[in-house]
Amino acid sequence: MNKSDKRNLYEQTLINAGHRMTEQRRILCDYLSGLQTHPTAYDIFGALAKQHPDISRATVYNTLNTLKELGAIIELSFAGDQSRYETDPTPHINMICLRCHSVTDYDLSTHTQSLINNVKESVDFEPLTVRVEFVGFCADCRNQRKDEIRQQWLDQQNQANQS
Ligand SMILES: [Zn+2]
Ligand SMILES: [Zn+2]
Repeated sequence: MNKSDKRNLYEQTLINAGHRMTEQRRILCDYLSGLQTHPTAYDIFGALAKQHPDISRATVYNTLNTLKELGAIIELSFAGDQSRYETDPTPHINMICLRCHSVTDYDLSTHTQSLINNVKESVDFEPLTVRVEFVGFCADCRNQRKDEIRQQWLDQQNQANQS
């Protein structure tokens, strides 16, 4: 979904829910629509407050909540971590690293769309979007783990040589 489609979706979702498009909500929608990352509410508020020092934390958090409840953005939760927001509701796969919690998008729109169509045809449920997650280790973490394993091995060798 491109930036202007995302912004229209957020603004329309808020208007349909009976919210006025205030300047602060417009700033938030514009910021969210340009994101390719999966930030926490804290990240979003922090970034906005830098550019707009008088933006209200309550407005940002409440608006994010409304957008989430209406399916325009999606909450991703990790155990023991702050939840992150998926700002693009277009079906895609999130690849989540178990070690550093980075989230990377993987486009699989044709497959996920056919999955949604299958659900629509076979059961009485109307899916808005689909959340598919791959969990594993990103390239950086795999390299670091290699380093950790090598370091452990070197430490063991050193201990063996000293004794
Ligand atoms: Zn990682
Ligand atoms: Zn994503």
